[in-house]
Amino acid sequence: MAVKVSGHVPKRPSDTGRPLVMARRSFRYAGASLIQGQAFSLVPDARNNEKLERLGFVAPLEKGLKLFACRVCGAEFVTERARERHGRFDHEPAAAPPPPPVKHPEESLDDYQTRVEAYGELLGQLEDSRLDRRIKSEDAEAPLKFDQTAASRL
Ligand SMILES: [Zn+2]
Repeated sequence: MAVKVSGHVPKRPSDTGRPLVMARRSFRYAGASLIQGQAFSLVPDARNNEKLERLGFVAPLEKGLKLFACRVCGAEFVTERARERHGRFDHEPAAAPPPPPVKHPEESLDDYQTRVEAYGELLGQLEDSRLDRRIKSEDAEAPLKFDQTAASRL
């Protein structure tokens, strides 16, 4: 996917002047996909904001902290590494999957159908393992605080 950056300055979360938090984990929030290390501001008065911090999904950021902005979309990150990861996940097409099977002339339709189904399964597995690897690395780097659920504090 070609992305044009012709003098257009994307809007940055830090420009809004609202307090920023950092995503400790990749998760979906207010219709956006956040990536670990991304700086953003919470929707004011949203019901789950307190819970997000308590469970370890977000951490508050100091004001004036140096952030690394994406030149394409303006999203900001606390490290260059997080910005690069965002670029790979959100602005680069995923690695090309293997080509779909082609029917050999001497192959029966049943055999071909079996290979097509196996191919479909393989594509699903590739996608799953990509996501699994990402979540596993985040489990190690930024474990969620499931000991901080409301029930555990009773
Ligand atoms: Zn971006």
